[in-house]
Amino acid sequence: MAVLDVIQTPGFQQRFFFLAKRFIAGETVAQAMDAVAALNAQGMTATLDFLGEDVVAKPEAERTRDAYFELLAAIRARNLDTNVSVKLTAMGLLIDEEYAFANLCAVVDAASHNRDPFVRIDMEGSSVTDATLRVFERAYAETKHVGPVLQAYLKRTPADVERMIGLHARVRLCKGAYNEPPEIAYKDMPSIRTHYLRSAEALLERGNYPGIATHDERIVAAVETFVRERGIARDAFEFQMLYGVRPELQRRLVSDGYRVRVYVPYGTHWAGYFYRRITERKENLVFAVSSLIRR
Ligand SMILES: Cc1cc2nc3c(=O)[nH]c(=O)nc-3n(C[C@H](O)[C@H](O)[C@H](O)COP(=O)(O)OP(=O)(O)OC[C@H]3O[C@@H](n4cnc5c(N)ncnc54)[C@H](O)[C@@H]3O)c2cc1C
Repeated sequence: MAVLDVIQTPGFQQRFFFLAKRFIAGETVAQAMDAVAALNAQGMTATLDFLGEDVVAKPEAERTRDAYFELLAAIRARNLDTNVSVKLTAMGLLIDEEYAFANLCAVVDAASHNRDPFVRIDMEGSSVTDATLRVFERAYAETKHVGPVLQAYLKRTPADVERMIGLHARVRLCKGAYNEPPEIAYKDMPSIRTHYLRSAEALLERGNYPGIATHDERIVAAVETFVRERGIARDAFEFQMLYGVRPELQRRLVSDGYRVRVYVPYGTHWAGYFYRRITERKENLVFAVSSLIRR
């Protein structure tokens, strides 16, 4: 049995949520709201993600869509400074593109009543990159309160960056978290970093309020130098980081006058997300195993 299969069993999830707690705000909307309130109090904004992906049945996709309705209403009720991030496969992209588009539009419509009406469309594996960008562009033709994510490890990304700059779309740039083949993706960290910085510079100079999503201190330092040298205002972009990752760096950036948005995942379907976090860093796997031993 593969590690992901083990993590996905209900027994594992019930007994081992304490392991995922570092990266996940909680399993309920109320816990997610408390996590965002704490971030807001530290001068940070957030983007909330209701965990789930790769849905293959309509009732499940509709449960995800409805969970976003509930989430958006809760954000409104507490007047929190946060928007939401969605995964199109959780909205039914693997069932039917038209259907996922309709679910996305319903969420975008519900978000339009909020203090921050923006809806970010997370980027998933390369099998859905084209479909995700197609759905984004259709939604964007109707409202500007929606934006895509581009992954610096993909060789296609410089062209996508230029297209998004042309559309004046708000892009989140990340390295990319999926295991992609070398034909389409850079695999070594120096190349990924170089391509990340090239795309970041294009977005910072010519894009619309980009989200620089990374915890990589070298990239953060290079971006700080770049914006200083080019005279780009600190409120013309934002750094974005994951909940529970490098909180001291998040606080340092806020105290230096940068905007910081924290990606806050919550919900019971945390296996896929947790798996990506523990497998992308050796120290996270060590942390998970040592937490088990300490119990
Ligand atoms: C806000 C946000 C949104 C994202 N959205 C997407 C998306 O839509 N699609 C997608 O494919 N990917 C997404 N990602 C994930 C991203 O692609 C990377 O997998 C992830 O950010 C790790 O890369 P890094 O740039 O932080 O650099 P790394 O080189 O991986 O990390 C730099 C340093 O940060 C620390 N660090 C990084 N990650 C962790 C961690 N998990 N736990 C503990 N320490 C860590 C370590 O000290 C590490 O040395 C997102 C990331 C962020 C921050």
